[in-house]
Amino acid sequence: MSLNKFCEQGEVLTKDLLEEAKKNILWTAVRPDIVMERGKGMYLWDTEGKKYLDFIGGWAVTSLGHCPDQLKSALMEQSSQLVNASPSFYNIEMIKFAKLLVSNSCFDRVFFASTGAEANEGAIKIARKYGSKHLNGAYKIITTKGSFHGRTLATMAATGKDAWKDLYEPKAGGFVHVPFNDLQALVSATDEKTCAVMIEPIQGEGGVHEADCDYIKKLYDFCKEKDILLIFDEVQTGVARTGKLFAYEHYEIEPDVMTLAKGIGGGYPLAALMTKEYLNIFEAGDQGGTYSSQPLGMAVGLAIMTEVLQKKLWENAVDMEEYIKEKLYQLQTTYKLRNIRGKGLLLAFELPKDNAREVVNECLKAGLIINSPSPNTIRLIPPLIVEKLHVDEMIEILSGVLDRIQ
Ligand code: PLP
Repeated sequence: MSLNKFCEQGEVLTKDLLEEAKKNILWTAVRPDIVMERGKGMYLWDTEGKKYLDFIGGWAVTSLGHCPDQLKSALMEQSSQLVNASPSFYNIEMIKFAKLLVSNSCFDRVFFASTGAEANEGAIKIARKYGSKHLNGAYKIITTKGSFHGRTLATMAATGKDAWKDLYEPKAGGFVHVPFNDLQALVSATDEKTCAVMIEPIQGEGGVHEADCDYIKKLYDFCKEKDILLIFDEVQTGVARTGKLFAYEHYEIEPDVMTLAKGIGGGYPLAALMTKEYLNIFEAGDQGGTYSSQPLGMAVGLAIMTEVLQKKLWENAVDMEEYIKEKLYQLQTTYKLRNIRGKGLLLAFELPKDNAREVVNECLKAGLIINSPSPNTIRLIPPLIVEKLHVDEMIEILSGVLDRIQ
């Protein structure tokens, strides 16, 4: 029977859904034979009714958990008021949301987009505009090895991922990759054509590697001395994820540019490019987008950020970091876990063998969602609302799996 027929009858079967998925969806990723149907708080349910504890949260996206009331109300109320009047007009939600972000950060201006890659494209453009206006046409942007900045052609070229080296040639030019946490390499790579350095304060997709405090402080001084821009890609680290509202606060510096996405929309596609006043340098038409600042997304972002601020969710990130690490340290000897690391709710640890993918798959079968950014590494990025009882449940499932397969 066709899928339509099943849908009409309200008796959709997972096997039919999977068959249709495999027939119609362009293949881009290895996905398990699971179809997700519903989410609430820390949990997801599939079409078989199986429940999963979610310690990945849509990849650091569902900051308030799945389907929070704030997001539902914002979507319902705004969708009956105004969805999109076109980006050529101001709208009320855009003005309110911009004010909220500017008044809670060290930045003066914001441009709204839909994805992290799009916000980073904006950051690259602003750096090159700055280079053409103030640095004799300097255009090179230094990024770090192991970094991740997105999947558009320019942000893939910016990304320091070995596996992408030969993909989609010819590459967008003007990106130089240096080792992470190595100031000398960065200084040596800088020349009169350099206009900016773009960095993740904690490399997320690269495996949860933190920038040293001293490195970031010296990098900041170096950029100031050379008049080049310091861009913080906070797509993964922003919005209370690391125990501060924004990760740059850990280093007591103020970058020139910051990009946000993921957690800012709580699951709704939303991103922001934030800059200092002296970078308010685009001319009309240099930057834009059909969905930039559309009222529906702005209402969602406003609702999510208001809740994060009111509840001071970075404090929960700090408390839960401590609790998760304490629990992982208790497992350390039994399962030979190594290098338990990360800040706030962006955490990782290493297994003694390169079987992280197997551990992830077995956890999934046992009802826990975690992920493996590299063959021996497990990453945890749960929603900011995670509580001790969820951590206990996660540890119980994880240790059960490790008992079986380590
Ligand atoms: N920058 C960082 C640090 C990221 O972690 C990601 C996504 O994982 C991106 C950029 C790209 O964001 P998006 O997938 O929303 O384009």
